[in-house]
Amino acid sequence: MTSPASGAASSDADLPDYAPVPRSALGPALNDQGYYVGRVERNLYWVTDGVYQSAFLTTRDGVVLFDAPPSIGGNLRRAVEEIAAANGVPSTVTHLVYSHHAGHAGAASLFDRDVVRVGHEDTRRLLLRDDDPARPAPEITFTDRYTLEVGGERAELAWHGPNHSPDNIYIHFPGHDTLMLIDVVNAGWVPIYNLNLSEDVPGYMGAPATALSYPWTHFICGHLGRLATRDDVAVHQAYIADIEASAKEALATVDPVPSYMHYGQNASAGVKAHLDTVTGRAAAPIIAKYTGVLAAADIEITTTTTFAIIAVAAPRLRAQRTAPPLTRAHRDRASAGPVRA
Ligand SMILES: [Zn+2]
Repeated sequence: MTSPASGAASSDADLPDYAPVPRSALGPALNDQGYYVGRVERNLYWVTDGVYQSAFLTTRDGVVLFDAPPSIGGNLRRAVEEIAAANGVPSTVTHLVYSHHAGHAGAASLFDRDVVRVGHEDTRRLLLRDDDPARPAPEITFTDRYTLEVGGERAELAWHGPNHSPDNIYIHFPGHDTLMLIDVVNAGWVPIYNLNLSEDVPGYMGAPATALSYPWTHFICGHLGRLATRDDVAVHQAYIADIEASAKEALATVDPVPSYMHYGQNASAGVKAHLDTVTGRAAAPIIAKYTGVLAAADIEITTTTTFAIIAVAAPRLRAQRTAPPLTRAHRDRASAGPVRA
């Protein structure tokens, strides 16, 4: 995800105050260069600048890098060189794996032309479409699964359907007890705008269950300052499930008529008033419940996330009210999608 341009506040005094960030949301301190590199397990490492995260494996045959976020940029090379030297292995980055096509590949062009780039076939398609010299397209692509083996180490790449983006993949390190899934769960924090700017909301909402179906202890989530745990993923799931339940309740109970009556012929204003009322009603108990639990639960992001879920829930609720009951086979097909974890 990328951060939307911030609104132009005329002075600091115009900026609202928010609840303090819980200590549990923060990660280790950054060094003087502005990054932190730490061991995940054995020769798997993660790097953060407090905003973005990436990861790398050091092997006897070179380094495999997983994402090259723009804000970490040149510090990625520093981190790789520091750790490879300490481990006595080559620091040459031989492979770069893309989690998906968007911002997390923004520093990909910093690595040699002869690095082997690996990604989902849609990552290649979308990067060719974007035609951004900073993000060269992967040459090695796959449709559902790909096993990457370098220097005796292994990463299992899998696509289980669209979520944050159409091409966002699961990267499992079976020898390192770790899963990397970017832009779905923000460890200790709520998602930013509209479920981390996700393109497929039902896919995004289902992704944590797929992540939990893998065996792992460490979770590299792509953003902010620390790694995630299975508990973090469970809290995120509870937050999203609570929003969905609250959204359904608000949709079923808020009377739209006063909004439309008030604005008369201005139907757009009526829609806005109605949906703003539903969203506010749905978000209020979530903000109360999660402030102090997840960082940023009290800011408007919870409201935009609630709205994104309402936008998906509303037609589903309408369909549930009007359609004949689905058979079990239909329901499984409708909800399971292409997930094959
Ligand atoms: Zn992101």
